[in-house]
Amino acid sequence: MAKMIISGEPAESTSGQWMEVRNPATGEVVDKAPKGTVEDVHRAVAAAQKALPEWSALPSARRGEVLHKAVHLIHEHENELAKLLTQEQGKPLREAVLELRRFAHTLEHYAGLAKNIRGGHIPQLDEGRYGLILKRPIGICGAIVPWNFPVSLMGNKLGPALLAGNAVIVKPASTTPLTDIRCVDLLCQAGVTPGALSIVTGPGATVGEEILRHPAIRKIGFTGETRTGKHVMEVAAQEIKRVTLELGGSDPMIVADDADLDQAVSAASVGRFFNCGQACLAIKRLYLFERIYDEFVQKLCDKAKRLNVGNGMEPDVRLGPLHTAGQRQEIEEQVADAVKRGGKVLIGGKRPEGVDYEKGFFYLPTLLADVPEDARIVQEECFGPALPIFKVKEWDEAIAKANRSIYGLGSSVWTRDQGRALWAAERIESGYTWINSAQIIYDELPFGGVKWSGLGKEHGSEALDYYMETKSVVVGSG
Ligand code: NAD
Repeated sequence: MAKMIISGEPAESTSGQWMEVRNPATGEVVDKAPKGTVEDVHRAVAAAQKALPEWSALPSARRGEVLHKAVHLIHEHENELAKLLTQEQGKPLREAVLELRRFAHTLEHYAGLAKNIRGGHIPQLDEGRYGLILKRPIGICGAIVPWNFPVSLMGNKLGPALLAGNAVIVKPASTTPLTDIRCVDLLCQAGVTPGALSIVTGPGATVGEEILRHPAIRKIGFTGETRTGKHVMEVAAQEIKRVTLELGGSDPMIVADDADLDQAVSAASVGRFFNCGQACLAIKRLYLFERIYDEFVQKLCDKAKRLNVGNGMEPDVRLGPLHTAGQRQEIEEQVADAVKRGGKVLIGGKRPEGVDYEKGFFYLPTLLADVPEDARIVQEECFGPALPIFKVKEWDEAIAKANRSIYGLGSSVWTRDQGRALWAAERIESGYTWINSAQIIYDELPFGGVKWSGLGKEHGSEALDYYMETKSVVVGSG
């Protein structure tokens, strides 16, 4: 049975209870993790308070070395970790490997920034006085992580938070705690001061809630649903905690009639079906210019039909199961609603048939046409392998429709006219726009949504600012 890690040591919960972690492809129990409690959060806070003076006093280059060492350990254990991730999450093994490499890259990126943490000096503020701008760690941070990319989304918080000298308490999703526990263990082995990094597993309603409420935890890095994010912000407000919120999305992709269609079709397929569509920045609405509509749709249907659906442990599988029964039910309801309102199923729209699919939460890649804008699948976040496709006449219409959403996470535009592409990027309301490029995240660029997609940034050197306090000092001649 897996254990939490508190004070650098394996720990069971004070509840004495366990949560089963099941494989979404087979229904089998992968392992059990402790069902943590409020007291377990208190233990992790006490350990962090003890460790913080030592960890935060280390030269940042030393903390960078610890992150570098963790990167080596992650690479060394890549196969074992990837298998565990596929078993608990459901994603194909090759996607699990990519996620682990992304996690390692993120840690390496922040390790590389270790010697670049900068404050400031303002000479001659006044006669005989100058100013200093100091950068200090915030203290103890909570990292609350969802199940869709449990490892890389944890890394987005750990990299900048640990480098900046904070202590961190991780709360993974209850359905995907196992790989996160192993990765936290490797970070501890790499030399994080015992107690400066803990992982407490358990329900959001108790363990998560206590992380939000505990006054000693001064910052919350949260990734999850917009509804939960609003709650996080409300509770954190009671203690004026810093928050970074990475929330839901409904990314539009616009393809103009001068685009490279084959490249754009590949990007649409990967963008919608990667991780079985369960990605915050998956392409969730596709806007095609009239002239290329038929050809594009035909090519995309052909490509999506070829995606091999099955257990992610099989090497040739490209589309694993949805993560839970509830997740699949939500997609089924969104597709049914679209069809009821006049939408047409081009491919998919149902579960695959056969003995191999009976125990898992499988759903076929699904493309929909003629879906009205008020359908649930357009208005809500669609967190599964279904994509509504729309015809547009020109750019203004495409941008207006792309912006008709409460979300503003990512977006992509495809055209050979670079001037027009930049014009569009300035007008689309989203935190990230890809031009003629698949929706891939880079550690070098700040990432975070606008509107209901979030608050603050992860990635980039910018993310460090979200894990540090800025303090001003005025120095007189005395
Ligand atoms: P969720 O909001 O249900 O859960 C996220 C985490 O919050 C889990 O660890 C959960 O246990 C915890 N939690 C739940 N209730 C809590 C509470 N009251 N207090 C504290 N913690 C609580 O989200 P999910 O279903 O796990 O993840 C999918 C969602 O995440 C989607 O909406 C997706 O778009 C979003 N997401 C966003 C990004 C981004 O970077 N913007 C990335 C990935 C996923």
